[in-house]
Amino acid sequence: MNTINRTQLLGMNCKQLEDYMLQIGQPRYRGRQIYKWIYQKDISSFYEMSDIPKELRRQLDETAVVSIPRVLKQRVSKDGTRKFLMELEDRKRIETVVIPQGEGRGSRYSLCISTQVGCPISCAFCATGSSGYHRNLQSHEMVGQFLSSRRELKKRLKKNDDNIISNVVYMGMGEPFLNYDQVIASVYLLIDPQGINLGQRHITISTSGEVKGIKRLAEEDLQITLAISLHAPNDQLRDQLVPLNRKYPLGQLMEAVEYYLDKTNRRVTFEYIMLDDVNISREHAHELIKMVKPLLANINLIPYNEVETLPFKRPSSNKVWQFYHWLVEGGLNVTIREERGGDIEAACGQLYVKER
Ligand code: SF4
Repeated sequence: MNTINRTQLLGMNCKQLEDYMLQIGQPRYRGRQIYKWIYQKDISSFYEMSDIPKELRRQLDETAVVSIPRVLKQRVSKDGTRKFLMELEDRKRIETVVIPQGEGRGSRYSLCISTQVGCPISCAFCATGSSGYHRNLQSHEMVGQFLSSRRELKKRLKKNDDNIISNVVYMGMGEPFLNYDQVIASVYLLIDPQGINLGQRHITISTSGEVKGIKRLAEEDLQITLAISLHAPNDQLRDQLVPLNRKYPLGQLMEAVEYYLDKTNRRVTFEYIMLDDVNISREHAHELIKMVKPLLANINLIPYNEVETLPFKRPSSNKVWQFYHWLVEGGLNVTIREERGGDIEAACGQLYVKER
C-alpha cells in the first residue's frame, strides 16, 4: 500500500482529529469516534471502524493512514519478557520490549519504548550505541509501539485487558531528550483520559544526561518520573563510558537535576550500570555517595548484561552486593534491578538492530 501521500492520523490528538474531520467536510464528532478506534481499540484499518459510515471509511482508506508499527518477529524469554522487532513505514527497524510486572507475573506488563533508530550517544557498554544512529522517531511511531505491543500481547495471551500494559519507560534505543518534542507529544497521547489513559506516575523517561531536556521537562506540567543514566561518579570515567559527559560534565548535570528538583519537587532516579573492575570500587562508592546524597535521589543498580562484541563483564553477585552495601551504609536509597530478558538480548543496553 502506498502511504506516502496520505495523511497520518496516528499521532493526532483528539482535537486534531476533530479538526481534520471538519477540514474534509465531516462532523466534528467523527474525529472522536476515530480517536477511540485508534487509541482504545488498537484498530488501524478504517474498514473495521464499524460506527463510521461506509462511504467515509472508503474515503479515509484512500486519503489517510494509521501506521501502527508492524511486529516482524518476537522472542520470548524464559522469564516472560518479550522483545518485538518492529518495522516502520520507511522499513527502518526498531526493538521494543515488554516485561512482566508484579506478583502474578504475566498479568500486567511494563513497556520499554525506543525513541530513535539507533543512538548517537555511543555509550561504551551499549549495543544500541555501537550500531550507529539513523534517525529520530516521530511521536506516532512511539505511541505506535504501545498500540502494537498491546495488540500483540492481547492476541498472544488471549487476554482482553486494555490495561495489560501498566507502565511505560522511555529506555529503549535512543536518547529521548535528543528528540524532546516528539517524546513529550507521545507522552501526552499516552496519558489522555479520552484515549489510552495511562497514569502519569506510571511513565518514566530515562536520559543519559541531556541537560537542556532535563530543564525543559522541569517546566512541563507533568507528574512523570525522570531517571538519569549516571554510570560513573567522576568526569574522567564518565567521559569514557557516556561520551555525552564531554558536552555536559557532572557539574552541569547535577546543577540541572537540582533545578528539576526545585521546580517539580519530584525525586529522580539515578541508573548505574555495574561493570566489573570499571566503576564499582570502594572509591567509586564514596564518590557516588558524596554526589548523590544531598539530592535525596534513588539509585538503581543494574548488573551489566554482557554483549558479545563489547569488552565489559558482569560483576559477580558478591561484588554487586558489596557495592550495594557500601552505598546503603553511606545513606543512599538503593535498589538492584532484577535482570529480565537477558537470554533474548532484551535487557538494558542489549537492544541492537542490524540495518537492512
Ligand atoms: S545507553 Fe542509551 S544513550 Fe547510551 S548509547 Fe545506549 S541507547 Fe544511547
